[in-house]
Amino acid sequence: MRRFLTGRPVPQASCELCGAVVAEDSHRHLVDTDKRALACACVSCALLFERPGAAGGRFRAVPDRYLADPDHRLDDSAWDVLQIPVGVAFFFRNAALNRLVALYPSPAGATESELEPSAWQTVLGNSRLAALLEPDVEALLLRRAQGGGRPECYLVPIDICYELVGRMRLLWQGFDGGAEARADLEAFFEQVGRRARAVQGEVRP
Ligand SMILES: [Zn+2]
Ligand SMILES: [Zn+2]
Repeated sequence: MRRFLTGRPVPQASCELCGAVVAEDSHRHLVDTDKRALACACVSCALLFERPGAAGGRFRAVPDRYLADPDHRLDDSAWDVLQIPVGVAFFFRNAALNRLVALYPSPAGATESELEPSAWQTVLGNSRLAALLEPDVEALLLRRAQGGGRPECYLVPIDICYELVGRMRLLWQGFDGGAEARADLEAFFEQVGRRARAVQGEVRP
């Protein structure tokens, strides 16, 4: 079990690279691929790391695109294959390991699925959104459909997945998370759904 500890961004953070004060509306994140952690950054520092290969690739800027694939072929049986105990999971491509990593929120933080990676490669590997995933900085975010049907699936900035994990960690109660956690999850996915635009002819940035 591996834990990531990230909470919601505080209103006034400082850039972990240059020390500048970062206001909430210009708060960016970099993935520190050595430490597998997020670093808060100001806009100018984030811009420096947007090109692949910048600074030897250790810090990678998290993009801000949200994509949905209205034609995705995942169905509810995918969920059984994935063996994720909760109704939400996210997947990212780890460049160093060169494979997809599956994580889900739990009261302990982000928990890595122990499932054989080939299982979700089979389920997700051929999807259009999976093909567009920028390694380490973007994730496929899945939520099991309420009452059957197709799961929701989005390509999102990876930092919002850790934000969700932080929120769930604070609110989760009992076996199913409890009413407050479920309402928060609902609001979170509503926001993601509103921001996401349908994928069409996108390429990896
Ligand atoms: Zn900075
Ligand atoms: Zn931050």
